[in-house]
Amino acid sequence: MHLLWFRRDLRLTDNEIVTLATANNAPVLPFFIIDPWFYTWADTGKARVRFLFESLENLNYNLQRLDSQLILFEGNSTHVLQDLTGQLIQQGYQPKLFFNRDVQVEYGVSRDKAIVDFYQELNLDCHLGLNNFLQLEDNREQWFNEYYTYQRQPQYQTPETLNTPELSLNLPQLTFAELRKKYREFWDVGEVYFSGGETNAQSTLNSFLKSRFHGYHWKLSRPWLSQQGATSHLSPHLTFGTISTRTVYQSTKTRVTELAGQEKAEFSLKAFRDRLRWHDSFTQRLYFYPEVAYKNRYPEFDEWYRPDELSPTSLELFQAWQEGMTGFPLVDASMRQLKTMGWMNFRMRAMCATFLTINCGISWHHGAKHYMNYLVDGDLAIDNWQWQMQAGVTNPLSDTFRIYNPNKNIEEKDPDLSFIYHWIPELRGYSLSEIVEGKYTDSYYPQPILDWSNTRKVNGKIVSDLRKLVRERLI
Ligand SMILES: Cc1cc2nc3c(=O)[nH]c(=O)nc-3n(C[C@H](O)[C@H](O)[C@H](O)COP(=O)(O)OP(=O)(O)OC[C@H]3O[C@@H](n4cnc5c(N)ncnc54)[C@H](O)[C@@H]3O)c2cc1C
Repeated sequence: MHLLWFRRDLRLTDNEIVTLATANNAPVLPFFIIDPWFYTWADTGKARVRFLFESLENLNYNLQRLDSQLILFEGNSTHVLQDLTGQLIQQGYQPKLFFNRDVQVEYGVSRDKAIVDFYQELNLDCHLGLNNFLQLEDNREQWFNEYYTYQRQPQYQTPETLNTPELSLNLPQLTFAELRKKYREFWDVGEVYFSGGETNAQSTLNSFLKSRFHGYHWKLSRPWLSQQGATSHLSPHLTFGTISTRTVYQSTKTRVTELAGQEKAEFSLKAFRDRLRWHDSFTQRLYFYPEVAYKNRYPEFDEWYRPDELSPTSLELFQAWQEGMTGFPLVDASMRQLKTMGWMNFRMRAMCATFLTINCGISWHHGAKHYMNYLVDGDLAIDNWQWQMQAGVTNPLSDTFRIYNPNKNIEEKDPDLSFIYHWIPELRGYSLSEIVEGKYTDSYYPQPILDWSNTRKVNGKIVSDLRKLVRERLI
């Protein structure tokens, strides 16, 4: 009996464990465990849980088309797996467990270890596959080559049918109707901007490659165009593994062949493929340095960037930032977009991060957690490292680090104010210069809560000096 345990790889296409577990028509039990840890984890936001549930429904639908179904167990993953294995042994089966390695959080890593140990104690087989490319041995010089070798390899075959026997199990299980009923709070998130599931992932990729990608390389920094679909919007799908980066990579390469000679289009798709690689390289980094999820990369920053409770003054700034009420329109529009859509484009994520860490002088720990609570694509590996990067902690060998100017960014990235008018209706009707100069006194919208130039100078110098200390130590 092959146990096919889905986690953040909610797809049938190009999925190592699906192909291996179903080989030779072996009896297979596909399942997911609704583990209370996930939705009680402080970093989990409602939109992400909803996306997960939708992806499970779609996986079940796709499995049903192959004469199978997705079983939903409920409870602590380790206990469920131990009970499931024990009951199958009692029924005369010899279970073999298939799952893809999880590189996200300590909980997942220690859970997987406990399960592998349990299987070893019972002398049962366990196959740990890969969801996307991951180098297991630390051989950084070879990472780039190995990554591209993996992306060019043939994808795992999708089975045509699954042999799932009827089993009688005494374990907490949910039907999909019960999933909707019991976890209603996660389904009710208002308007849905990103829908989960492998079927949606594939159609999102297709529509991007058909036409949306044109101009990607310059549109991706523009918040309004990105919101309208100038970037792929695949991030939640890559986070939950409803599509593999290899499928995306290979489809993109095929499209490049069709576009032969169209240099701009090829350039856009090259920029897109680079970002796919970044996705996997962030996962890789977390695998090698799991501590960077919560600790400063360099201890020199430990006094300045701390996860401690905020002082009343900082708390006020933090709340204004969270609510989109800082008086810096581009920051506020983006923060409102995050709360509503569960998504922002790269440039706005970065700009809002430097605003909080440098201008407000608030540690990246607080901002990263807020993002994780709202992002539908919340991925600890990318989010927390990006936050450290924007806060000036990483890459200290460089003399400079970037602090975004939110008003200059309006002129550059939202010159016709489409994005600002959409998210800040209080400012509709005001011109660019009136907005940048704060001449909207008859609006309910607040004046800037801080002096951007001064905070940049003072806090920017503190961070610069800390970077210098790291540099001196490292060189
Ligand atoms: C402070 C901060 C926090 C972030 N947190 C997350 C996060 O939690 N989850 C997440 O997926 N991305 C995160 N990003 C990266 C990036 O902003 C998003 O991946 C991107 O905006 C998602 O939109 P898209 O799918 O349309 O991207 P596209 O531009 O279409 O890119 C395609 C894919 O490439 C990957 N990618 C794109 N940009 C980056 C990047 N800079 N670093 C790593 N991978 C990238 C993503 O998987 C993305 O889906 C963060 C960036 C910053 C500055």
